[in-house]
Amino acid sequence: MEPHPITNLKPQGALHAWEEFIEENVYPQPGAKAKDDYRNYDNPARETVREFYRQNHRYQTVEFVRQKRNAFLGLKRKRMGIFEALDLLNTLVDDSDPDIDLDQLQHLLQASEAIRADGHEDWFVLTGLLHDLGKVLCLFGEPQWAVVGDTFPVGCQFSDRIVYQEFFAENPDSLDPRYNCQLGIYDKSCGLRNVLMSWGHDEYLYQVVKEHLPEPALYMIRYHSFYAWHREGAYDWLCDDHDREMLSHVREFNQYDLYSKCSQPPDWNELRPYYSKLVDKFFPAALAF
Ligand code: FE
Ligand code: FE
Repeated sequence: MEPHPITNLKPQGALHAWEEFIEENVYPQPGAKAKDDYRNYDNPARETVREFYRQNHRYQTVEFVRQKRNAFLGLKRKRMGIFEALDLLNTLVDDSDPDIDLDQLQHLLQASEAIRADGHEDWFVLTGLLHDLGKVLCLFGEPQWAVVGDTFPVGCQFSDRIVYQEFFAENPDSLDPRYNCQLGIYDKSCGLRNVLMSWGHDEYLYQVVKEHLPEPALYMIRYHSFYAWHREGAYDWLCDDHDREMLSHVREFNQYDLYSKCSQPPDWNELRPYYSKLVDKFFPAALAF
């Protein structure tokens, strides 16, 4: 397989010794970001983001999604606790996000702290802290275009309300008569749980935590990157009444995912005891990833 041009992450291969793998492959190392990368701060759609979506839209096919689900949803990669996963995640920067160069832990903490400050229930606060943990997929050698960014259904026509939809012209499913008509492989109102979403951190984390959190939390995790649905209103024809009921939760969560940027960054060390208790309330000491 060819190396990925955006990140220097290798495509999935033999799993390296954990620490060695992170050392060699995680990009960029904190504090070691190339100076040139900083020039694009003013550009709302950094070239990296565009290139990211070109790859994502080209390669996310039905076949690809099925392959990744088979490869990862057996959850046989690693057993680890939530805190261990958080520490690992913190070595990544998300190429798909034009707005932030925050480290991942800060993003999660700012979201969860904003949810907490608004007096929401504890499972909601915890969801803020966890929602991007599926990005540990990058640490299993996956390229970022197969981990982060907006998600969308595969197996039916791509909506023109998906970001950078012009890049779907390069996706072979766009030419496949099984998939390029409106319904594609689905029945109308079949429910999102029966839909194959483009592969990434949402579905993966949902599968990891699904036994442990209430239903609205699971929707927030599973569909938080499905902007064409929760923000643009597309794909209602795939939804059933349960999905429509849950949509308001996904939207409420999105406010915190996008707009929680505090000038005073939360202090992880100070907050750790609170979150440790919260994690213990909902999760066992180790989860299968
Ligand atoms: Fe996310
Ligand atoms: Fe997020």
